[in-house]
Amino acid sequence: MAVERIPASDRLKRILQFERARGCADTAVIGGIDALLRNLLSPASGPPAPAVHTAVKLLGKRAYASLSAEARRAWIDAVLSLAPVPAPPSATVPQHTLPLHTDRAARAEPPAPPRAAVEAPGKLPKVARPRVPAAARTSPGKTDATPPSLDSPVTRLPGVGSNRAELFGKLRIGTIRDLLYHFPHRYDDYSRVVPISALQVGEQRTVVARVWSSTAVVIGRTVRKSTELIVGDETGNMQVVFFNNPYPAQKLRTNQRVTLSGTVSSFQGQRQMQNPEWEIIEEGSDIDQAIHTGRLVPVYPLTQGIQNRAMRQFVRAALDRVLDQLPDPLPAHVREKHGFPDVRSAIREAHYPDNAATLEAARRRLAYDELLILQLSVLARRTRRVSTLRAPALMLPADLRDAFVASLPFPLTGAQRRSVDVILNDIASTTPMARLLQGDVGSGKTVVAAAALLAAAASGCQSVIMAPTEILAEQHFRTLCRAFGADAPEGSHIARCDPAWFGKPLRLALLRGGLRAKAKREVQESIALGLIDVAVGTQALIQGGVSFDRLGLSVIDEQHRFGVEQRTTLSGKGENAHLLVMTATPIPRTLALSIYGDLDISVIDEMPAGRLPVKTRIVEPHERDFAYRFVRDQVESGFQAFVICPLVEESESIEARAATEEYERLRSEIFPDLSVSLLHGRMSPAAKDAVMQGFRERTADVLVSTAVVEVGIDISNATVIMIEGADRFGLAQLHQFRGRVGRSGEQSFCLLLSDSSSPEVRTRLKLLEDTSDGLELAEADLRLRGPGDYFGTRQSGLPTLRQARLSDVDILESAREDAGSLLLEDPDLASPALAEVRRRVEQLATTAGEAN
Ligand code: ADP
Ligand code: MG
Repeated sequence: MAVERIPASDRLKRILQFERARGCADTAVIGGIDALLRNLLSPASGPPAPAVHTAVKLLGKRAYASLSAEARRAWIDAVLSLAPVPAPPSATVPQHTLPLHTDRAARAEPPAPPRAAVEAPGKLPKVARPRVPAAARTSPGKTDATPPSLDSPVTRLPGVGSNRAELFGKLRIGTIRDLLYHFPHRYDDYSRVVPISALQVGEQRTVVARVWSSTAVVIGRTVRKSTELIVGDETGNMQVVFFNNPYPAQKLRTNQRVTLSGTVSSFQGQRQMQNPEWEIIEEGSDIDQAIHTGRLVPVYPLTQGIQNRAMRQFVRAALDRVLDQLPDPLPAHVREKHGFPDVRSAIREAHYPDNAATLEAARRRLAYDELLILQLSVLARRTRRVSTLRAPALMLPADLRDAFVASLPFPLTGAQRRSVDVILNDIASTTPMARLLQGDVGSGKTVVAAAALLAAAASGCQSVIMAPTEILAEQHFRTLCRAFGADAPEGSHIARCDPAWFGKPLRLALLRGGLRAKAKREVQESIALGLIDVAVGTQALIQGGVSFDRLGLSVIDEQHRFGVEQRTTLSGKGENAHLLVMTATPIPRTLALSIYGDLDISVIDEMPAGRLPVKTRIVEPHERDFAYRFVRDQVESGFQAFVICPLVEESESIEARAATEEYERLRSEIFPDLSVSLLHGRMSPAAKDAVMQGFRERTADVLVSTAVVEVGIDISNATVIMIEGADRFGLAQLHQFRGRVGRSGEQSFCLLLSDSSSPEVRTRLKLLEDTSDGLELAEADLRLRGPGDYFGTRQSGLPTLRQARLSDVDILESAREDAGSLLLEDPDLASPALAEVRRRVEQLATTAGEAN
């Protein structure tokens, strides 16, 4: 086997043959023929082989390098004629040429004959057990005579047994179709094929060459052997090394044509490739069939146990076997309109692109497919709502609206007024509204929602407003009571407001977790009897068995905290009610349309007048004392401060303990003279309320808290927030924290503390120093951490978009438009041309729940 060194005679003769073929330019070996001979003669090489002996004798005292081309040729001819040239295996025994590995896999040909039988003559063939393909051992399905189809399990592919199938399962690949849609996450550009002489150190290049020698060697102290190749083309030679990898030496034999793709390096002044991608090119075949080299080479998302080389082969086999069966989801006219490639060539390109331009065309086509399916499903949902569901028309007469606005202690901003108008207009219709109200922290969404709640009450309907936390629900209850002219009594859960301008009383209820069973039942009964106009609570409480007498409007606050599934159950419950969801999380448009594609979107893009941007500063670890002094100064000036404890991923109880320790430390050591209080997620609802109440009433100066104050908390007297372990939070979340201050006309401050000195952390936190624009931060966060992290994967409800990117706004918009016209023409997607589209839309509906 090639693992052993080729006998020196053979090696010399092959090199000389090569040298002759290249015009006797002394280019066949690195260092030249003279060096080669010296080498072969050195004692380290053992007793000189006969051919070496002959060669040296014939050369005499002359140096090969000093000979004319003619003299060189004569000498070579003489050496070769004195001993028969070993025939390159491929020349005399053509059936020994190994086809491309992939082709072998793809055609499920019988395995190559045992290696020993094809070795150079003169060697005793080793007795080798014929290799049985792994697939045949592991998968009885392989003997299945029917050709595999798109939905066949991956085990129908050669080389995929149950073990591999399990590994594929980790990549969520079950069928051959899944494999077609398992796209590379990047490509290595090995498309530049150059002659060896043109290789420059540092470049990523491909050469097509012949193997001159292929040896397994021991390099250094490693256990595994390495492979050392000498390869050459018409222009020169190159050494190739595969460290700790004897496999190429086993596969590659002299004179075989091979492509090698990698980065050119330099070793002892000679160009070299280390650990390049490689593959054997069958005699007479084209390198275009290569899958590992000589092209844009796919690099796949992998899992332990499946290597890239193998993945390429499996994908290639899938392409060869079933791609022809893949129906194009897009009707021809849609495809033509956009100039898209058909789905099969797009998929082929996505795996094995011809060039960057065709690859991008394919990616856009596949991204369009994904977005179209998504848009079809959200629009279908929307169409259903618009065409089949009815909600009561809710009207707020203009004079009532004006009186409400006039009763507020501040004028509405232009953006608030516009939002109120749009919402009142929506809910005045019997078509159920489904609208997302997006506005940065502090932009004043609550009062906009209040106008809609009033409209419901004015029309004799009930409404409900849901918050993600008890603290926030409690706060909404108070805010609404105040907006409707009454102060909610301490600890109350039912309030009656009697605003003079409204002409009739408004009854509000707060469903809180701490309620005793009896009180809770009382509230639930009042709601069910229609005695309550506005119910406030957390989603869990509202959904736990509350029924309404005549629900007209549901408002969900801080929507990003809820999963899509929750939203669905909610709209299921209140299907015949209007729905307003509110979020402070700025959502880039693409993402908004993807997640909330069935909602209309309003944006409050204006802050109440007189707000100053929160001054934000990264505090170095050694400046901690400065930060404490700063907090103290603010408190002494009559303001309040938040101290946010680091996020502890493992558990809420560990986080609570850490917060408690920090609280003790601040209270006893840092601010012994100030009033410090503590808030964390493990406290009882009543205890939380008491703390918030105290902080609101200024009985505490400093509130030490975990991330529970992240959303919505509104304490306008707080002017400084100090965030410990800032690097653990996402930018969007930090921005939310920052929104807890700066809620009045006073200058407010945000201090970011972090022990991390990593440059990435710096860059990220620096963005907060530099911008107060939530949308800009959201986009940066998405760029840096991806949508999963941004929303929390479980909450995002994002279907897996493999090819579509957040920046594909144009594709998204045309997909949305096309989805609209497709549904207009064929609301049920019933036409045969849309069968595949329908299948995918239905499939999305069945998998959508998984994301949550
Ligand atoms: P968010 O949009 O973050 O939910 P809120 O509704 O809690 O914001 O409002 C933030 C603060 O701004 C509250 O104290 C609220 O009373 C106040 N506010 C709302 N609208 C205005 C306005 N137009 N002018 C001044 N202050 C306002
Ligand atoms: Mg809010």
